Amino acid sequence: MLTAPQNPGVALAAVRERIRMAAVSAARDPASITLVAVSKGQPAARVREAIRAGQVDFGENYLQEAAGKLAELADEQACWHYIGALQANKTRDVAGLFDWVHTIDRERTARRLSDQRSPHAAPLQVCLQVRLGAEDTKSGVDPDNLRALADVVAGLPRLRLRGLMCIPPEETAPERQRGWFRQLADLRDALNAAGHQLDVLSMGMSGDLEQAIAEGATHVRVGTAVFGARQG
Ligand SMILES: *Cc1c(COP(=O)(O)O)cnc(C)c1O
Repeated sequence: MLTAPQNPGVALAAVRERIRMAAVSAARDPASITLVAVSKGQPAARVREAIRAGQVDFGENYLQEAAGKLAELADEQACWHYIGALQANKTRDVAGLFDWVHTIDRERTARRLSDQRSPHAAPLQVCLQVRLGAEDTKSGVDPDNLRALADVVAGLPRLRLRGLMCIPPEETAPERQRGWFRQLADLRDALNAAGHQLDVLSMGMSGDLEQAIAEGATHVRVGTAVFGARQG
C-alpha cells in the first residue's frame, strides 16, 4: 500500500538529535553546527514543510531544478547553498540565486562568480571543494594546489572565503571515514596558519555526519536522512 511520505519535521528532529549527540561526545557546542538539508530531487512542497518545521538552510545540486524551486518558494525565508558541480556556464545563475557555494575548485569559476555577484546582494559565502583520495570521478582542487586557489579566492571582492568542503572516498570502517575528515581539518589549519581565516568545514552526510562532527564539521549536508529517498 502506498503511504504519503512522512512529514520532514519528524526526520529533521531525529537528525538534529544525531547532531546534538555527536557534538556532545566531541565536547562541542551543538549550536556551532549548521544542518544543511539537501533537497535535490524533492518537490518545493516538501521543502516548504521543512521550513514550517523550522529548517533554514537547504542545499541544491542541479541549477534548473533549484531555480524552479526557489521561484516557488520566493515567499519563504531560507538560506540556499549550492553544492553541485560548478561549470563556467552556470556561474551567473548560481551567483544570482544562492547565498552560499560549497563547490569552488578552480580560479576561473571563482572569478566569474565574483564578477557576476550583484553589488546589491551580500557577498557570496564560499567554500573550496577539496579532492581527497585522488579519485578520478570526483571534482575538487587537489591538496597541493589548495593554497594557491585560496589566496586568489580570498582576494575576490564579491566572494567571502569561509572554508573547505569535501566528499571523501566512501569507507566501510567509520575510523577510516573519520581519517578523511581529519585531513580536511588539517588543511584548514594549515591555511589558517598561513594567514587565512577559515571558520567553516562543510563535511558529513546522512551516513557519516557523526565522524565529520568529531573532526570539526561546522556544516553537515544531509539529504536522505531528512527527506527519505529522492523522488527525481
Ligand atoms: C546529495 C548530496 C548530499 C546528501 O547526501 P545524503 O547521503 O542523501 O545525505 C550531500 N552533499 C552533496 C555534495 C550531495 O550531492
